[in-house]
Parts: sequence; structure tokens; C-alpha cells
Amino acid sequence: MDASALRRIRAAAVLLQRDISASGMPWRVSVDIVQAGGNYLVLVDGQFWGGVGVVLEGADERCAVWEIADATQSTIMETRHVVWPDCPTHARGLHLWPENRGADWEGNPFGTHAWPVWRCREESGHVFGRVGALRYPPD
Ligand SMILES: [Zn+2]
Repeated sequence: MDASALRRIRAAAVLLQRDISASGMPWRVSVDIVQAGGNYLVLVDGQFWGGVGVVLEGADERCAVWEIADATQSTIMETRHVVWPDCPTHARGLHLWPENRGADWEGNPFGTHAWPVWRCREESGHVFGRVGALRYPPD
């Protein structure tokens, strides 16, 4: 990973930290190098490590945000045993989804060239907020 990709990955972690803080949770997320040449992981609260073995590439800003959002959500589920983030209206977990894609969308999110949003699947689905711009309560 070159220096610019690492900057994109770290900037994405800052966006995810905003979402965590907006949700009222105390967790801290950061990114560290595990192995020179490519393996990175998400660190939550300095106590738990996640995303081990996941290669974060940060090919562009959007990809970096997808990668860190996915790694952060997985790490929180694995280490805190909670679903994060959640939709307070429906008391359900939110899913990463490409912006401006409907409920029937299928495919590889990295191929959409869309920014990731947090989407609830209840009541035929609704977007709760863009990754990095979560608000509780939503707008
Ligand atoms: Zn909902």
C-alpha cells in the first residue's frame, strides 16, 4: 500500500469514528499496519483487534470508506456482540448499501462507484444516512 492509499484508509477511519460518536457509543477506531505490504486492521478501544487477514487497499476514497465501514461493523459485532449501527425506529441493524440503489440491488458494491450508505431493511427499506454522516435522530 502506498502512502496515499494509507491516507485514504486513515481518513475513512475518521469518518467511521464520526458515525460511532453520533450513535452515542464510546468506541474508538483506528487503523494500524500489521504486515508491511498490506495487512491492516481496525482497532476498537485499544482492546480489540478486528479485520485480521483483511487486506485494505484504499484504491480510492469511496473504496476506502467501504472497506473501513465493513471492517468496523464486523469488528464491533465480533467484539461487543452488538449490532451497530442500528435504526432506532425499527430496532434493527443497518446494512451497508450503495447510495441511490433500491432494495432489489445485487452485486459487488465496489463496482457501483457509489458512496456507501447505512440502510435499514424494514418497511421495504430506507436509507438512514451516508457513511460518515450518521445522525441520531436522522434528518
Ligand atoms: Zn428502519
